[in-house]
Amino acid sequence: MSRYIDRRWFLAIMTVVLITTGAACGMWISRLVVISGDRGPMQIFSDELLDRAVEVFAEADRMLAVANSSPYPFCSDKEIMFLRDTLFSTKYLKDMGRVKDGSFHCSAVFGNSKEPMPLIRHDLATPDGKLIYATARLAISKSTAPIIGIGNANVVLDPAAFETLKHPAYTFGVMYNPPDASSTIGMFGTLGIGKIDMKLPLGAGRTGDTVYRNVCRQLACVTVHADIGSLQASAQPLASLIATFGAALGGAAAVIMILLQRNNLSLKARLQHAVSQNRLTVEYQPIVDVASGRTVAAEALVRWRENGETIPPDVFIPVAEKAGFINRLTMCVIDQVLSDMSAALHANPGFHISINISAADLSDRHFGALLAMRLRRASVASNQIALEITERTTANASDAKEAIQRLRSRGHKIYIDDFGTGYSSLAYLGELNVDGIKIDKSFTQTIGTGSVSVSIVPQIIDMARVHGLEIVVEGIETPAQRDYFAALKPRVEGQGWLFGRPSGAFAIREALTEISPGFSVLPIPASVAQ
Ligand code: C2E
Ligand code: CA
Ligand code: CA
Repeated sequence: MSRYIDRRWFLAIMTVVLITTGAACGMWISRLVVISGDRGPMQIFSDELLDRAVEVFAEADRMLAVANSSPYPFCSDKEIMFLRDTLFSTKYLKDMGRVKDGSFHCSAVFGNSKEPMPLIRHDLATPDGKLIYATARLAISKSTAPIIGIGNANVVLDPAAFETLKHPAYTFGVMYNPPDASSTIGMFGTLGIGKIDMKLPLGAGRTGDTVYRNVCRQLACVTVHADIGSLQASAQPLASLIATFGAALGGAAAVIMILLQRNNLSLKARLQHAVSQNRLTVEYQPIVDVASGRTVAAEALVRWRENGETIPPDVFIPVAEKAGFINRLTMCVIDQVLSDMSAALHANPGFHISINISAADLSDRHFGALLAMRLRRASVASNQIALEITERTTANASDAKEAIQRLRSRGHKIYIDDFGTGYSSLAYLGELNVDGIKIDKSFTQTIGTGSVSVSIVPQIIDMARVHGLEIVVEGIETPAQRDYFAALKPRVEGQGWLFGRPSGAFAIREALTEISPGFSVLPIPASVAQ
């Protein structure tokens, strides 16, 4: 019960984690999408600003030249009229004035000053002789505006020259970029007004949570900034859509995980049921003396068929091992083997059945005794039941060695199954003190392909001989493979489709009657037995 509750908690937590991770990934992706998606609009906006800035500063330059070459006497009424006419033809200028000896004398809007007014301190003097005032206080209004002057003239630029180009997601600065100067000065916008900056790095980029684009042309530079957070806010529908999609993906992953768990749960429950009802069956595959072709043993292979479906042992054995009822499954197989084969084993003392056992069986101290009790009941000698363990089962060498010794002392032969697929060396197996090895079928397949030299099989066989181990070669499928192993001395045993596929008990019993013709191991029909 508590395991069930634990599992439910685990699934609930995993679901929340997957949905949250999905949403977080969605937010992250939306952030990237928003940033890359904004590149286009930011480029358009900064280009528009730059066009306007180039126009504004070019107009100022032109009008300064016009004022400086006025055909009228300095600050005469005619000149003021001339300045006014000129000013009305401009787009971005607020005033045009005349200066002399560091003082302001007259302008188009202000008219003639009674007293010349001393000029305020400029912010920047450019190499070509211009004086720049980024935020000069205007005499006629309380506002401030940028002023550019040269020679005996200056022009007041319209502080609202960029008002029509505002964008809710962006902040910007417009800089005057004097020819041959190493710095720019901020004139319009909210970024860096009056600030004298070394020239900005051109192009698009990102610093912290801000993305920017800097562009320059002729007398103007523009910088546009966007805060990623506010970009996301303005792209909120898109961001939430992607985040929702991410969360949905996370949810779907959680559902798939739950379904997989359920499926596994039900596989486990179904298998447990099948074991408890003794519904597993056993097939037998002959093991032959390769040189003579004589059947000397058979391997018992468990089978599970349910509702017309055959589930392979490679799938359900690990389930039983993980769920902790492999010992019961092994006992079911043993019971089935004894029920199928006890008479045949009794009649053929030289014949044995090889049974696969798992790590949990090997480490179970009662396993040997339970097996012995069954064998006694069936009158079968213990040397007629061999046990196959895999290399993985022997990972804990000292425990395995002890368990192997216990089972061998009861009379069972022990084979290392699927030899070569694990990591143990033959020397290590010598230490374990087993009876023999079963060379995995993947090695057998390297024989008969024309290049024995690339196969490791000859070395395995030589080493096994040195350690006095019996050899069973698995997966012999072709006459070429058989011939190769038949020529070896001393003899080896073999198993594979060439000699016989796993099949019901009847076939193996029949093969045994051929060996000992005097003895019938055919089952007595139930009607006769009664
Ligand atoms: P295994 O012990 O290596 O069994 C040999 C497998 O190779 C069997 O597959 C057999 O059908 C297959 N085989 C035999 N000859 C050939 C051949 O010539 N070519 C090819 N390609 N295959 C061949 P199966 O019956 O599907 O068993 C798979 C594995 O399941 C077994 O491998 C064994 O590890 C495990 N297993 C089977 N029965 C039991 C059991 O009762 N208890 C335990 N613990 N494990 C079992
Ligand atoms: Ca085996
Ligand atoms: Ca094997």
